[in-house]
Amino acid sequence: MIPFNVPPCVGTELDYLAEAVRARKISGDGQFTRRCSAWMEERFGAKRVLLTTSGTAALDMALLLCGLQPGDEVILPSYTFSSTANAAVLAGAKLVFVDIRPDTMNIDEKKIEAAVTERTRAIIVVHYAGVACEMDAIMAIARKHGLKVVEDAAQGVMATYKGRWLGTIGDFGCYSFHETKNYSMGEGGALVLNDPKYIERAEVLREKGTNRSRFYRGEIDKYTWVDFGDSFLPSELNAAYLWAQLEKAEEINENRLRSWKNYEEALSPLAAAGKLELPVVPEGCGHNGHMFYVKCRDLEERTKLIAFLKERDISAVFHYVPLHSAPAGRKFGRFHGEDEVTTRHSDRLVRLPMYYGLTEEDAGRVIRAVKDFYGE
Ligand SMILES: *Cc1c(COP(=O)(O)O)cnc(C)c1O
Repeated sequence: MIPFNVPPCVGTELDYLAEAVRARKISGDGQFTRRCSAWMEERFGAKRVLLTTSGTAALDMALLLCGLQPGDEVILPSYTFSSTANAAVLAGAKLVFVDIRPDTMNIDEKKIEAAVTERTRAIIVVHYAGVACEMDAIMAIARKHGLKVVEDAAQGVMATYKGRWLGTIGDFGCYSFHETKNYSMGEGGALVLNDPKYIERAEVLREKGTNRSRFYRGEIDKYTWVDFGDSFLPSELNAAYLWAQLEKAEEINENRLRSWKNYEEALSPLAAAGKLELPVVPEGCGHNGHMFYVKCRDLEERTKLIAFLKERDISAVFHYVPLHSAPAGRKFGRFHGEDEVTTRHSDRLVRLPMYYGLTEEDAGRVIRAVKDFYGE
């Protein structure tokens, strides 16, 4: 069976895990956590990066830092993972779902402004498949209406928009290092803080509401409970695993991009013949090969394609069921305007096997099977 995903492993993970164990420091914020944060701060030019227990936790922190009041509204796409929406719900907000663009499956920047009301406080954008949302237009709307922008860049680590790293453009960026993402620590994530005014509050929020981070830096002589908080620090063991990946970030990225381009090249004749559609990467977006998907004619054809691939021992999977049609989505939010694209296009999408180390031989089998399905 060719799996849909294989968690990344570059070979040095066990050495670094052993190092963390030998250092007798396995809780959070030890040397590996510091190395990972510093690497991202330097590489992405971020003001501050805090490792978290998950991408979900990073989103939770970002939305809590937005300081929402009950009844406030948050704009987001419906085509996303539940975590994007949960963060806003937990922070007390009402969800306002906006339609996506058919080409990138990202929130349609042209439909955002009509959804802004007196109560709107933030926009959460999701860089689907590591392809950037139209951030210039989105930041302009946010500035005009005084809204915070949270980038759900769970899939966007190492991807860019007009030369800027995803996660560093809005007020907050949220990365995921889940095993299905480009870089992994099993379960984990990071919060990117792009405005220094949030750093101290974010450190407190992450450390159970205490100012322990300042204490560790020697800025105060004892630490205390200063505000509400939670436990969002990952263990050093997870950070050690991530450090191995970040050291090889370039290699992982290039490997994935090679696989992505290989799929694109091989399947473009089918697209040219009008049999399926391939992902679109707009001008100015430097993606990271997070995902390769194709779009079938409709839901029925997609179901058949997935079954056909499964018979040939290839695991291909569909993706999000739009949140506005889920029970919790109906309870916590509303869809603004018409759902012209979200449901129709999400019904058509299939993700092909894509991971670091996917062999050309296996990719060739996937390509052959897709071509066979369409009778080419
Ligand atoms: C993976 C993912 C998340 C959640 O990340 P976890 O690390 O699994 O909590 C959130 N949003 C999007 C778009 C994701 O792809």
